Amino acid sequence: MKNDNRILIFDTTLRDGEQVPGASLTKDEKLEIALQLERLNVDIIEAGFPYSSPGDLIAVKEISKVVRKPVIAGLCRSVKKDIDACAEAIKPAKRGRIHTFIGTSPQHVKFITRSTNEEILKRAIDGVKYARNFCDDVEFSAMDATRTGFDYLCQVVEEVIKAGATTVDIPDSVGYTTPEEFGVMIKKLMNTVPNINRAVIAVHCHNDLGMATANSLAAVVNGARQVECTINGLGERAGNAALEEIVMALKTRQDIYGFTTEIKTEEIYKASKMVSRLTGMPVQPNKSVVGANAFAHASGIHQDAILKNETTFGIMTPKSIGIPGHELVLTSRSGRHALMHRLEALGFKVDEKETTGVLYPKFLQIADKKKEVFDEDLIAMMEGEGRKGRDIYTLQYFCSSTGNTIIPTTTVEVKKGKEVKRAVAMGHGPVDATYKAISEIIGAQVKLLDYQIKSITKGEDAQGEVTVRVKKGSREVNGRGVSPDIIEASARAFLDAISKLEEK
Ligand code: MN
Repeated sequence: MKNDNRILIFDTTLRDGEQVPGASLTKDEKLEIALQLERLNVDIIEAGFPYSSPGDLIAVKEISKVVRKPVIAGLCRSVKKDIDACAEAIKPAKRGRIHTFIGTSPQHVKFITRSTNEEILKRAIDGVKYARNFCDDVEFSAMDATRTGFDYLCQVVEEVIKAGATTVDIPDSVGYTTPEEFGVMIKKLMNTVPNINRAVIAVHCHNDLGMATANSLAAVVNGARQVECTINGLGERAGNAALEEIVMALKTRQDIYGFTTEIKTEEIYKASKMVSRLTGMPVQPNKSVVGANAFAHASGIHQDAILKNETTFGIMTPKSIGIPGHELVLTSRSGRHALMHRLEALGFKVDEKETTGVLYPKFLQIADKKKEVFDEDLIAMMEGEGRKGRDIYTLQYFCSSTGNTIIPTTTVEVKKGKEVKRAVAMGHGPVDATYKAISEIIGAQVKLLDYQIKSITKGEDAQGEVTVRVKKGSREVNGRGVSPDIIEASARAFLDAISKLEEK
C-alpha cells in the first residue's frame, strides 16, 4: 500500500441502500446521487447489482459512462452469468471494479448454498479468476465473515488473493460483531494470511446492534484500509455504517486515529438531503452528523456558551459538513440568481430556464405569503413541484368534505399524459376517500402499507409533508407529497408512489 494512513471510502448507497423496501430509485435518480457522490469525492461507488434486474444493469452502465472520477463497482455472486452482467455494466467506466461475493459462514454454506467448505472455496477462486478476465480491479467479499470459522476464513482470503482479488472484504453482514472482537479478528487476519499485503482489506458493517461505525473504526485501527458505508446509514435492516459518521469521526478525532480520507466533507449535508428526498427515507432528527438536531443546542446554558465560543459544546462545525448558514434567508426581494444559487446549494439540479419560467414565480408566491423563506420552504417547494420523471400522474383538482355527521367524500381529477379522469369516493376519512377515488381512476390494486404526516416548515403557514409506502404485486415503493393542505399533500404522495410503480 502506498499511503498507509489513507482510508478508502466505498459508498454502497446505490446498492445496499437501495435494497431497502420502498427505497428503490429510478435510473435518473441513481445518476443524480452518483454525481453527488463524485462531488463528495468518494473513492468507490458501488452502483448496483447488474444481474438482479435489467433496470439495475442499465443504471450501472449509465453511471459508468457519466461518472468519471471514482471507481465504479458492480456487485455479483460468484457465478458466471452474474459476473458477465457485471462486466458488461461496468465496461464503459474509466475505472471499473467487479465485486464478487459468496457466503462462507456455516449458516450460509449449509442453508443457502447447501454446499461444503471445499466447494465454496473453489467457487470463490473460480469467480475471482473469471472476473479477472474482464477487469484488473476485482473485489471479493466473504459474506457473513464474522460468523465464519477463522481458519477457513484465512484460507479463503489467501486463495482469492492468489486468484487475483485486489481488495478482500470481511463483511459483518448480519451486524453481529463488536468492536473488541472485530478489531482482534482483523489484526489476527493481517498477521496470519501470508499474502495479505497484496490486497486492500475492506470491511462492510451493519448496524443491527448499533455498532456499525464503531466496528468499522476498530477494523481500520487494526489494518483495514477500505470502509464500505452509505449516506444516512441507509441499508438492509438496521442499515450500514453511515459514511458521514465514519468520515467525521476520522476527521474530528484525527488526534487518536491518525488516518485521512479524501472526502470533501462540505458536500455531506447535500448528499444526505438528496438521498433522503429521492429514496423517501426520512433522517431521524437526532441522527449523528446529519440529523436536524445534530447542531441544535436546546438548553439555555449551552446556547449561551455556543454564542460565546463555538467550541464550548460543538465538536464539529455545521459549516464543515456544508450546512447552509442562516444568514442566507431569502425574501421577495431576492433575485432569480440568488434563488438558483440557494437551490443548487441544497442539492437540486436546476437550470436558468427552469428557474426563470417555473421556479421563480412559485418562489415569489411563497415569499409573498411568508416574509422569510427558509431552506425547508425551498425544499418543500421543490418537492411539491413533482420533479422530473416522477409525474406520470398529476393532481389536477380535488374537493374534499368531512365532518362528524357526514360521510367523508372526495372528488379527484388526475391527469395522465393528455387524459384527465375524474372520480368520486366515500371513505372513513378524507384521506381514505381521496385514495379510494385515485385508485378508481388508475384502476389498479394498490395497497397502502404506511402513511405518515409531519410539518416541515415553521409557523402557522407550515407546509405538511406526507410519506406513503404502497405495494402492488411484490413491489413496494415510497412516495412523498408536500403542500400547506394535508389532503393535497396526501394525494400528491399517493400519486408520486403510483407514478414510481409505473416507471420500472
Ligand atoms: Mn450489506
